[in-house]
Amino acid sequence: MLQQAVTEMFDQHQLIKKPMYRPEVQQVIDQYQLKYVLAQFVDIHGAAKTKSVPISGLKAIEKDGVGFAGFAISGMGMQPHGPDFMVKGDLSNLTPVPWQPGYGRVVCEGYVNGQPHPYDSRYVLRKQVERLSAKGWTLNTGLEPEFSLFRRGEDGSLKMVDDSDNLDKPCYDYKGLSRSREFLERLTEALIPVGFDIYQIDHEDANGQFEINYTYSDAINSADMFTFFRMVAGEIANDLGIICSFMPKPDPKRAGNGMHFHLSIGSEESSNLFHDPSGMGLSKMAYHFIAGLLEHGPALCAFCAPTVNSYKRLVVGRSLSGATWAPAFIAYGSNNRSAMVRIPYGRIELRLPDAGCNPYLVSAAIIAAGLDGIELELTPPAACNENLYSLGLEEIAARGIETLPQSLKEAVDALKADPLFREKMGAEIVDEFIDQKSMEWVEYSRHVSDWEVKRYTEFF
Ligand code: GLU
Ligand code: MG
Repeated sequence: MLQQAVTEMFDQHQLIKKPMYRPEVQQVIDQYQLKYVLAQFVDIHGAAKTKSVPISGLKAIEKDGVGFAGFAISGMGMQPHGPDFMVKGDLSNLTPVPWQPGYGRVVCEGYVNGQPHPYDSRYVLRKQVERLSAKGWTLNTGLEPEFSLFRRGEDGSLKMVDDSDNLDKPCYDYKGLSRSREFLERLTEALIPVGFDIYQIDHEDANGQFEINYTYSDAINSADMFTFFRMVAGEIANDLGIICSFMPKPDPKRAGNGMHFHLSIGSEESSNLFHDPSGMGLSKMAYHFIAGLLEHGPALCAFCAPTVNSYKRLVVGRSLSGATWAPAFIAYGSNNRSAMVRIPYGRIELRLPDAGCNPYLVSAAIIAAGLDGIELELTPPAACNENLYSLGLEEIAARGIETLPQSLKEAVDALKADPLFREKMGAEIVDEFIDQKSMEWVEYSRHVSDWEVKRYTEFF
């Protein structure tokens, strides 16, 4: 008896002494002294959702999963009496959360009754990525987040974070960049340790607006990174008593917050199958991909510009700085920043997405549309290398160039009318997205705005 107890004690001692997790996981835990890990996934809007798991329970994230009441999460297609929504993640993607000492993060995907959940955005993207890998291809995406900094006034209203940041043409302004540097430095220094290869930080073309650029990655990793970016930026701002907003168009007179996607496809043989030294530096395959993006442009728009506010960004018109820099027309051109697709040379930039998008659904929709172009060998119309902002609407129409949807309703109608996304991304998520966005549109339409009150109160 005593011998058995001693043996058990000895075994336990051994157990405690052994690393609790496989060496690469344990190394992150030890290096960053992690006490909690965030099991993180996104809802249909791309907003980060988490449970905090004490380090002793970390195995659950990989094995059985962490449970949630699915009905409480937007767009999971679940009911209050349904099974649990379980999220599971690979502990190899454990990273520290540098602004929150003692915390780590594992990106997870959703399961219901042991099956991958077709309403989970990351799973939806993974299915599209697998369609590419079946051909030996990887989509690389480089995301360019733009964001605006605000503070709240004493009455709760939103104010510019820096009153002196008031130039008409504020882009690249030294003073503006310098005066927001505390936030920008903290953000940069929180992102670098988790693998963001940041190479540029600039003041953008709206007051209080900035952009941080980092090296591209494969589509899933880029979406994980951007989700983390919004998590970090929001919380560091909050710690400093300011607000970091990814709202697509905070100020009607200024440029909005875009989130351009730079796209290329790599394979074992070539790091960029879109590159060809002739012309605009693009291969036939890249032109087919562009044709797919343009062909499905109106429906794609619903994922890229998913809020009622997004359509204040995609307008035909000028901003105080002279240009909105956001696309209004379904066209492409060589280094043309006024078109939906720009060709910076040897790759494609889709300028349609805004910073309020769900990066998983946008990436999945890009693959669905681009692959359709490749599979059907679609040919795009001629490139448009003129300033589209300066062409009149008649001229645009005469050239057969379509205008992008001008409201969330138009975009959702276009998505309903285009069977591709339902077929490729799954009816569950696309129908749910359409339902959610239709409700958002109705709610917005029924709201009486300040503009209406001002205009109509004594109008008659
Ligand atoms: N802010 C612009 C947009 O809404 C983009 C500016 C730029 O080209 O960086 O897309
Ligand atoms: Mg920019």
